[in-house]
Amino acid sequence: MGRSPTGLTVAKIHGVKLKIHFSLLFLLVYIVFVASAQFPYIVGQSGLDVSAISSNPLAWGLTFAIGLFVSVVVHEFGHVLVAQSMGVKVSGVTLMMLGGVSEMEKIPDKPFAEFKVSIVGPLVSFAIAGMLFVLSKIVSIPNIQFFSYWLSRANLVLGIFNLLPAFPLDGGRVFRSLLAARQGEAQATATTVSLAKALAWTLGILGFFQFNMILMLIALFIYSAASSELMLSESKGLIHGITVGDVGVRVPVVSEEASLKEAASLMFQTRSRVLPVKSAEGIPMLVTLKQLRRVPRNAWSEIRVKDLMMPSPQTPESSVLLEEILPELASAETLPFVENGAIAGVVRYQDLADLVDFRGLDERFTEEPKKAI
Ligand SMILES: [Zn+2]
Repeated sequence: MGRSPTGLTVAKIHGVKLKIHFSLLFLLVYIVFVASAQFPYIVGQSGLDVSAISSNPLAWGLTFAIGLFVSVVVHEFGHVLVAQSMGVKVSGVTLMMLGGVSEMEKIPDKPFAEFKVSIVGPLVSFAIAGMLFVLSKIVSIPNIQFFSYWLSRANLVLGIFNLLPAFPLDGGRVFRSLLAARQGEAQATATTVSLAKALAWTLGILGFFQFNMILMLIALFIYSAASSELMLSESKGLIHGITVGDVGVRVPVVSEEASLKEAASLMFQTRSRVLPVKSAEGIPMLVTLKQLRRVPRNAWSEIRVKDLMMPSPQTPESSVLLEEILPELASAETLPFVENGAIAGVVRYQDLADLVDFRGLDERFTEEPKKAI
């Protein structure tokens, strides 16, 4: 969940795009070097005969880094498969420094749904560790013996690290979902965030005194992820029970055959920077003031809306609760919404801030939260 990070798409597995974030490329280079440096030490620990194992540390570093990368992919797809089994749509997985970020719909509010989706990751890592450990005991080829022993240890560490009760690690979500059963989601998030911040400080101070840059980066990453999780949770509380139709702005739909000049005047009349477009294929599209500004004004009469329009990542119904589309809205900033089967207007992330300010003025928003339909 969360904002969709940018990355390079490298494969499509089970309908899910596998993307690599640039931070991972740096980490891979770092791992190759650390792994090559650690190689003699790990050989010593494995209890294997040094002379039987090929002795090129750099080649080992590279092989190990690729093995670790594949392990992280398998771990991530553990999350994806469990989420898919609950009917949650997953569009992509981006591998980053600390594992992966899945772009998935909101996990259903059923008890332990988040628990199941989160716990499976570390369990997959432990399973890989176990299988590789067994493999290292039954094969007789020293190079494979050594490789599976090494990667088995790495997966064990990966599983344990991900179980730490801190956002954005799996353990943070596991811990939150267990707490939420007792104290409600908002309080559980606040508690888990405080814990994550304490952990980030500990790791950061440890990294500082050991001159360990990676540890300091991890600390920073955990801290900022925890903070944004708290912000998301707090804004969820503020908009609780409010639907897309409550805050969405009703604006006219512009035809895809309209000229940019016509679209511009419609934007001016409605004071809307974004207009929904109904395309010939019926797919809801958007055209924005920003896009218009990139076109020289003297070309506005000739160029049509259909030359500029962009598909919308999502088109919620007006009856959908805002909290359900919050992450998508935050990353897209504006989404068109539909009512009675037709595009009715746009809902903007910016309107949420206004909503918080004006909340007390409209009794709809001060009464008891509505039930989801
Ligand atoms: Zn995970």
